[in-house]
Amino acid sequence: MVIVLESNIRDEDKQRIRRFLEKNSLRVNEIAGEEETIFGAVGKVGIDPRDVEILPGVQRVIPISKPYKMASREFKRDNTVVDVRGVKIGGHRVSVIAGPCAVESAEQIMESAARVAESGAVMLRGGAYKPRTSPYAFQGMGEEGVRILREAGDAYGLPVVTEIVSSEHIPVMKDYVDVFQIGARNMQNFELLKKVGALAKPVILKRGLSATIEEWLMAAEYLLASGTEDVILCERGIRTYEKATRNTLDLSAIPVLRSLTHLPIIVDPSHAVGVRDKVPPMALAGVAAGADGLIVEVHPCPDCAMSDGAQSLYPEQFEKMMRDIEVLAPVVGRSVSHRPMARSGHATGGAELSANRASVADLRGAAETPVICAYSGGRGAYAEIAIQRFWDNGATALSTANFREVLNAVLGGGAAFGMLPIENSLAGSVYENYDNLTRCEDIEIVGEVTIRIEHSLLACKDATVDTIASVYSHPQALSQCDEFLAGKPHWKHIETASTSGAAELVAAEGDPTRAAIASESAAEIYGLKALKSGIETNPRNYTRFVIVARAGEVRCETPNHASVIFTTANQPGSLHDALGILKKHGLNLTKLESRPIQGEPWRYRFYANLTLPEGVGKSVVSAEHLRTALAEMEKISQDNGVVQGVRVLGLYNSKELSN
Ligand code: PEP
Ligand code: MN
Repeated sequence: MVIVLESNIRDEDKQRIRRFLEKNSLRVNEIAGEEETIFGAVGKVGIDPRDVEILPGVQRVIPISKPYKMASREFKRDNTVVDVRGVKIGGHRVSVIAGPCAVESAEQIMESAARVAESGAVMLRGGAYKPRTSPYAFQGMGEEGVRILREAGDAYGLPVVTEIVSSEHIPVMKDYVDVFQIGARNMQNFELLKKVGALAKPVILKRGLSATIEEWLMAAEYLLASGTEDVILCERGIRTYEKATRNTLDLSAIPVLRSLTHLPIIVDPSHAVGVRDKVPPMALAGVAAGADGLIVEVHPCPDCAMSDGAQSLYPEQFEKMMRDIEVLAPVVGRSVSHRPMARSGHATGGAELSANRASVADLRGAAETPVICAYSGGRGAYAEIAIQRFWDNGATALSTANFREVLNAVLGGGAAFGMLPIENSLAGSVYENYDNLTRCEDIEIVGEVTIRIEHSLLACKDATVDTIASVYSHPQALSQCDEFLAGKPHWKHIETASTSGAAELVAAEGDPTRAAIASESAAEIYGLKALKSGIETNPRNYTRFVIVARAGEVRCETPNHASVIFTTANQPGSLHDALGILKKHGLNLTKLESRPIQGEPWRYRFYANLTLPEGVGKSVVSAEHLRTALAEMEKISQDNGVVQGVRVLGLYNSKELSN
């Protein structure tokens, strides 16, 4: 049962309730949510809820109707986010785990780790004890395999996941493994579940070959009841009559599970389809269906793999798949998870550390440093959502009044980072921020994040669309919803400084004739209801934010992106010459803007975004390479008498914000 406690409960009452439940042989879990604190109580014997209801400090008692208790959504309303040494699974992220089916040698697993880390995996997989259909097939390297898996993970900053097939192996595995995998064949091996659950470590629980969703959740219940709180469900295909694929991937399990459980859900497309060419489309489908992550088999040489070679991706295929996921994620309101950031000076103690070789200890150190990121607007602003997405709710969002204040907070040390919108896919560039970045020499772009902007019409509880007479919002949001608003010609449009400010104002007035256009999360924050969601004219409405920090604070050693400002001489061909240098160095110009130079009428400064071509295996360019090109541009400018020809706003990795 779930016992909702009164918000102002006295500590002694709380202790008394706990003692009462424990005396009745119930196990008690306290869950402190944002709005209420609850006790989840489970056990073999049932007690009369009325006996609990009368205890002082109890607000209400809700019996759990499902056979699984701790796994149920009734037990815990908020989604569980599993934290594996700073790598998060759950929330708004898509976390990708990759690696070979089996660990085969030190070289093979090291090479696998290097390749999957390079393309954006956050965890390394590899089986050391393999449950093979044939007793004559390769059974795995055992303890040696787990040890070298760990070494490879450590070398590339990736926590490791591996399958456990027997509780006998716990003593040799437990010091090496970050996440235990329970394979499909062992999903209902209840003795194994109890022993692994008792280790209190994260567990990936694969769905059994013919398991129903309820049986699967009952298996999760075994793990939770034994001690771990961190169970990740993995849909890996079930057995059906269909023979064209190895199994049938049941993607409908994702939305079904989402309403039944708070546990994160990932998809294993590799074991589901069994043939590599079909893996990327099903991986994308998994993300589209709402998966919190993927576990994918990748092998540096699938043709020589000792198991599951046919379904293992070539590293190049994996890289392409990751790029596609990066594009898809914002469409479904998610962003791709990256390895946690280490900041120079802080976590690394200034040690030489390359982006792909951060040790897990260093990354953990970084995760312990609380991240504060400033943004412009109030609670529920889109920039705040971008911060939550990027750090997966792990950062503190610091609200400020405007963009300049964001920069001041970063410069003054009140925030390590700032989140600034730079471009909207419908409305174009946010010029104010280009100009802000030009002015602030001590600020640097260190990353970027794109989120989909979905607007909702929010109003107080007793309003309906028919009671509304005026609508409040930021001018950008009003114009992004012009088609919807055209259908309500009698509504008055009132501009506000921010969308979150509009929501706050409508909530404060409590007047059913007023509505705000803002994010759905603003509805929750300000106690409003969404009369209609998705009212933007074009659903392909994205905003790209740049993440800024004080110059020199965050190192990026594998940038694939540069933002630069350059000024050319006022003479024929000077822009052509500058662009020629970019071409010569194979740099792809993805954006070019011109802005007037203040105090110099009719002279312009150019803003450019540069990347390497999207060719396979070429997504990372060394900082040196970019710098050489930019130095050449600077030289031409100087030769032509232009002062400060080129300024680098940031060399960053568009995918990751890491050391
Ligand atoms: C595996 O992940 O290598 C594996 C054996 O998976 P499953 O248990 O889903 O077959
Ligand atoms: Mn396998």
